[in-house]
Amino acid sequence: MPFVTGLECVVCGATYPARSVMTCPRCGVTGILDVKYDYRAVARRLTRRTLAGRELSQWRYRELLPIGAQARLPNLAVGWSPLRPAPALARHLGVRALLLKDDGRNPSASLKDRASAVGAVKAVEARRKVIACASTGNAASSLAGMAAALGLKAIIFVPERPSSRSF
Ligand SMILES: [Zn+2]
Repeated sequence: MPFVTGLECVVCGATYPARSVMTCPRCGVTGILDVKYDYRAVARRLTRRTLAGRELSQWRYRELLPIGAQARLPNLAVGWSPLRPAPALARHLGVRALLLKDDGRNPSASLKDRASAVGAVKAVEARRKVIACASTGNAASSLAGMAAALGLKAIIFVPERPSSRSF
């Protein structure tokens, strides 16, 4: 992650060195950390010319993702989903124009594919054979798809609900 300068808690604003913690130690699990970038350095490296020759997926920005330069990527077109005009909704909201991101075009038809793909790549980098998540919906199908694309086994934990029990 050549452009990462550190991590900042979205709750209390505390800052930490990159890769030092997963959540803010002061705030616990609610202390999600924003990744801070050196945007001047990003602008020097990721120019329009540099990006123009890259594939149309989230991997075109791979230097900004927490993956190694030589990381093996899933052979799936994740991201770069189209923006669609929504004129009726724009009129209803009283705005001149409105565009909706159609993330249904991702491999598992979910926005979750972006994070699942990075998670699966990280698992391969860490030489893991199995990845897991807890989900009742599209995060599960997304992670399973990315795991399959990279030859990993996926284990999905689904909470039991009283209404789903059969008697
Ligand atoms: Zn915090």
